Amino acid sequence: MKFSEHWKRQDFEATRQRILNVSDAEVRRALAMAGQRLGMRELEALLSPAADRHLEALATQSQRLTRQRFGRTIQLYAPLYLSNACSNVCTYCGFSAKNHLRRKTLQPLELDQEAEELRRLGFNHVLLVTGEAKHVGTPYIEDALRRLRPRFANLSLEVQPLDTADYTRLAQAGASAVFVYQETYDASAYSRHHLSGAKTDVDWRLDTPDRLGEAGVHKVGLGALYGLSDWRADTWFVGLHLRHLESSYWKTRYSVSFPRLRPHAGEDFTPTRFDERELVQAACALRLFCPEAELALSTRESVEFRRQAFGLAFTHMSAGSRTNPGGYTQSAEEPGSLEQFAPHDNRSPEEVAMDLRSLGYEPVWKDWDPSFDAPRGVG
Ligand code: SF4
Repeated sequence: MKFSEHWKRQDFEATRQRILNVSDAEVRRALAMAGQRLGMRELEALLSPAADRHLEALATQSQRLTRQRFGRTIQLYAPLYLSNACSNVCTYCGFSAKNHLRRKTLQPLELDQEAEELRRLGFNHVLLVTGEAKHVGTPYIEDALRRLRPRFANLSLEVQPLDTADYTRLAQAGASAVFVYQETYDASAYSRHHLSGAKTDVDWRLDTPDRLGEAGVHKVGLGALYGLSDWRADTWFVGLHLRHLESSYWKTRYSVSFPRLRPHAGEDFTPTRFDERELVQAACALRLFCPEAELALSTRESVEFRRQAFGLAFTHMSAGSRTNPGGYTQSAEEPGSLEQFAPHDNRSPEEVAMDLRSLGYEPVWKDWDPSFDAPRGVG
């Protein structure tokens, strides 16, 4: 059964109400189970307002499980924006088709320049990002992967949802991970924020991770975009999605990110609440729920917050991010107004790495070898 069928059996508002009504005793019981396999009821408890009073205990357990599984390491990666062209209208994104931005899609030589600069900065793990437009479909992404593959140890994708055969093809071209955020699992908020284009098809997006599992892509990334709906219920649905995928595609690795809305061009609504304390609660709750998942913290967050929070639950961090195509090498005359959102932590990758070392962590630039990329479960 695909995830969209599970999702249709759930009610977002009823889930939200259940989480709001969790008792203190239920939170204590869930915390006492840390290290065992937790169910959806325990996740509900850890995401509840009642769990806020136990945040220190939750963070301590989360840190213990993270260090047990991953040690004191943080894997560093950089996004490489290939194109800001997009045919969809999403209310929260600078690339939305309704925004009057200069659109740019990197050509092969520009791609080489960006790649060289990322190598110079020390990166070996790179996330290729595009908007959702026809001309940046499978052939364009495949060409980019083949061109960049010899330069980096690991390439992952954040691109438009594709079908299983496309993902098989991209895995063979060297994509080891694909990230596809649902944005929100709240059906009414989803339709309010996705106004036109292919992204209005919620089922197609919900079932994208299933297609990635079928294609044998090594790692699948999930997440909600916080600020669109209720963070507690959205995080619970991320957990439900994760459980569904783990039981269906058990060879696949999973990763979860916690992007919060950041200022961007064309913003015209007030994001729902999700403060830093709540972000810590969401990440630590998911760590207890799924000790082996990779959890990522992006440059959307401030330096101070990243320094305080990274060791509690996270395993991956972006650094020195540029969120516009050509952003690593563009000349000073080119405006930065093509970006998808404004990063908050603007330290250089080397500064981030030095800081991690000073805090007793090992920054990891490479934990993968291209020879691992032979696609599984296909052919
Ligand atoms: S969120 Fe994605 S699909 Fe929506 S406008 Fe931005 S790039 Fe396009």
